[in-house]
Amino acid sequence: MTTPAFSLCVYCGSRPGVDPAFAEVARATGTWIGSHGGQLVYGGGRNGLMGLLSEATLKAGGRVVGIIPKALVEKEWADDRCTELHVVDTMHERKRMMAEKADAFLALPGGIGTFEEFFEVWTWRQLGYHDKPVGLLNVAGYYDGLMTFLRTGVEQAFMNAWQMDLIRVGSDLSSLLPELVQSAGLSPEPRIEAI
Ligand code: AMP
Repeated sequence: MTTPAFSLCVYCGSRPGVDPAFAEVARATGTWIGSHGGQLVYGGGRNGLMGLLSEATLKAGGRVVGIIPKALVEKEWADDRCTELHVVDTMHERKRMMAEKADAFLALPGGIGTFEEFFEVWTWRQLGYHDKPVGLLNVAGYYDGLMTFLRTGVEQAFMNAWQMDLIRVGSDLSSLLPELVQSAGLSPEPRIEAI
């Protein structure tokens, strides 16, 4: 097995959402990972954006590591097409393993599972538990309301501006993805046939 150029942990919805732009970015993220020699680490399910992301990564030639708690194998329809599928005992184990295997983290649109995972790696970063880049893709204005609320947290002095600076928020995948990988000290390796 060749070592992947980078390992990106992506959190996203187990549902597709309404706006077709969400499915589009999930596929585009997978395609970018696969066509730049990368490995996707994700929750291991076939539903919603999660399934589209992993399918696109595999199709573009990338490795996919899926990590799913045994209680969710049926509910989230565990994807046996993953290059590696780890069925673990608990949600805590899933999250720990996902974090350990990642060089950087990215949240796409999603629901409470996605929010929880994004906030957890962000808070871990500010506590110094890791120093890996954390990104948020704000596509079709999905996270506009969240960003406004976070700024209120700073204005009301429940948060510091430097805590906001620990996350990279962007609406353009083509710049956010390389930025995350490069700030992890790694280089995406475009495959000739993918250019
Ligand atoms: P959602 O964004 O709610 O569609 O969920 C996306 C993924 O997050 C799914 O794989 C969920 O199993 C997962 N998830 C839900 N709750 C949690 C949690 N507390 N910790 C970690 N993952 C979760």
